[in-house]
Amino acid sequence: MAESSNRFAQRMADANVAKDTRLLGDFVAIYCKGNHAQTKRVPLQSEGVTLGAYGRKVPAVCPDCAELLTYAEKRRAFCAKDPKPFCSNCDTHCYEPEMREYMREVMRYAGPRSMFHGHAIDSIKHLLEGRAAKKAATASDPTSD
Ligand SMILES: [Zn+2]
Repeated sequence: MAESSNRFAQRMADANVAKDTRLLGDFVAIYCKGNHAQTKRVPLQSEGVTLGAYGRKVPAVCPDCAELLTYAEKRRAFCAKDPKPFCSNCDTHCYEPEMREYMREVMRYAGPRSMFHGHAIDSIKHLLEGRAAKKAATASDPTSD
């Protein structure tokens, strides 16, 4: 247990991991604010928060979204791919189906809205990489149309 905590801290010290974690936090917070407004939202408490991965802007979320985010920060930290592709283009589905569906919903909702939260560059990169991945998939599979 202590060992996995250690490894998590090490991973969170990686600038890319911390940046993705902050992005996830923003996305989930945007989604939660828009969809769970009637639920009490409090600043996230997680290992990632304790390690300072979210910076000073700790996302305020409801209990369900807190669970998702705590799960997501772990999955991101322990992602074995380097460089990590965007999760939607990855062939390793490390999320449990339920969490995966939840996160998809978050991305669908928060993705376009994140443009107004200073993530325009990330959103555009995400879009372009998604297109490139689809193209590559089509090109390598002659039977698909
Ligand atoms: Zn929520």
